[in-house]
Amino acid sequence: MQGVTRPPLMRLENRKIVLRHMSSLVLGQFFKSGNNHERFERVHTFLATNDVDGLSSEMRTFCEGNRSLEESLLEIVPEALHSQVGLADGSWIGNLFGRESRFYGAVAGTLDDVRELESIQQEFANQRKYAEAARVDRRLRAVLDDRTLNFLSRTAILPKYGFPVDTVELEVKGEYSSRRDISLQRDLSQAVAEYAPGSQVVANKKVWESGGVKLVQGQEPVTRYYRYDEEGNFEHSLNKDEIRGRGVRQYFTPQWGFATDLNYRTREPIRKAERLYTTRPFFGGFAEVAEPVSKIFGGVSITLAAPGSLFILSEGHQQRQFRVCLSCGRHSAKRIAKHRTLYGKPCGERMGRYSYGYELVTDVVRIMFPYLDDVDAAYSLGYSLALGSSDALGVPQNDLNVALSRVEAPSGFGMISLILYDDVPGGAGFVARLSREEIFAEALYRARERVAGGCGCDSSCYGCLRSYRNQFVHSVLDRYKALRFIEAVTKVLTVV
Ligand SMILES: [Zn+2]
Ligand SMILES: [Zn+2]
Repeated sequence: MQGVTRPPLMRLENRKIVLRHMSSLVLGQFFKSGNNHERFERVHTFLATNDVDGLSSEMRTFCEGNRSLEESLLEIVPEALHSQVGLADGSWIGNLFGRESRFYGAVAGTLDDVRELESIQQEFANQRKYAEAARVDRRLRAVLDDRTLNFLSRTAILPKYGFPVDTVELEVKGEYSSRRDISLQRDLSQAVAEYAPGSQVVANKKVWESGGVKLVQGQEPVTRYYRYDEEGNFEHSLNKDEIRGRGVRQYFTPQWGFATDLNYRTREPIRKAERLYTTRPFFGGFAEVAEPVSKIFGGVSITLAAPGSLFILSEGHQQRQFRVCLSCGRHSAKRIAKHRTLYGKPCGERMGRYSYGYELVTDVVRIMFPYLDDVDAAYSLGYSLALGSSDALGVPQNDLNVALSRVEAPSGFGMISLILYDDVPGGAGFVARLSREEIFAEALYRARERVAGGCGCDSSCYGCLRSYRNQFVHSVLDRYKALRFIEAVTKVLTVV
């Protein structure tokens, strides 16, 4: 990587990272104190009371009784973030261990699982189905005998990596014995596609497929309404009435991850497992109210980088969305009349129609070209510029991405703007560097190189504009359309 990258933004998304580091400090002290070292060993010793409210208030009491904890936290957390995480007013204890906390949800979810497995095991035993009862018992023990540290990082209470911020896992309910050597943790951006119903992944030379989404009692998923048009203009709201027009849909974030069926049996991959779905990004606006100021190079207007929201949606095959039961978590790519829970019990609830998605807060720039009004040209130009920028900055192609957004542009500029963003939670300082003229010129030059015809295709190919993640526009990508806009600009701009 060339040049100096400024440190990632310490706001919004990063609150989660900071809370995780705070949990790490507090739980570390907790396990060192009194006789608690035993509780650090295994999940069943940690959850000893089998009562989420009891454990939550135990943690609160521990925090309140240790004044030095707060002093240590005030030292490790940057001062600018104190109010966001509750260190300014004492609400940090609730943020870490209260009913709305990650901790509370993870413990409640695990205890729900345990109770469900115990009841199924009992049923099998009553029916004298001993082999089945033994299988459920093995699963139960896998949950309870898991290492506490493993449990806390798997459920994202403790930090595992600095980034990504949002990792979830595909929980294997069936043949758990092989689970220790497989990693089915994914960044949410991958998980919403790879663990969607009907999609399969290969790990440890086996095929894995989810049966549903994990839900936690008392922390119902927040479903949002949304709508977009063919230019990618995006509206969203918690309230359906706030979105007008046709094609209003719903999505939610599978923040607790996904799970297989209890009786899921892995298979050997027959051929390379197909990844069926891709995600599509939509621009939701800059996080701060005002539009950042722009600079103009060679007739192209580019804003300074600022935090903005991208909504990353996984809508399934031909945007038909998924069927999901918000009561038991079962999901399906198609409509099904009756379904069973992941534990194999009949479920009486109806499945609704949802997409999976999440909000990515990252560094964004808005770029406006003269006379850019055509959607196909905008996508072609946008991807050429995203790829050209990653070449110019020397960063991996997947670290930069693009979305479109219509604007009321000042006269002379097209109505469709390109939203270039760092495809990394919190931003990584990549697009920020484009506001320097020589770097922007270099990005345009590299973009021109990509679409100038070295690949030899008639419209677009993997050598110029296509990639796995822009499949949804492959049919409209056209390198000639991109080239026309780039040439018009580079004529004016001094390009090295
Ligand atoms: Zn159900
Ligand atoms: Zn090509």
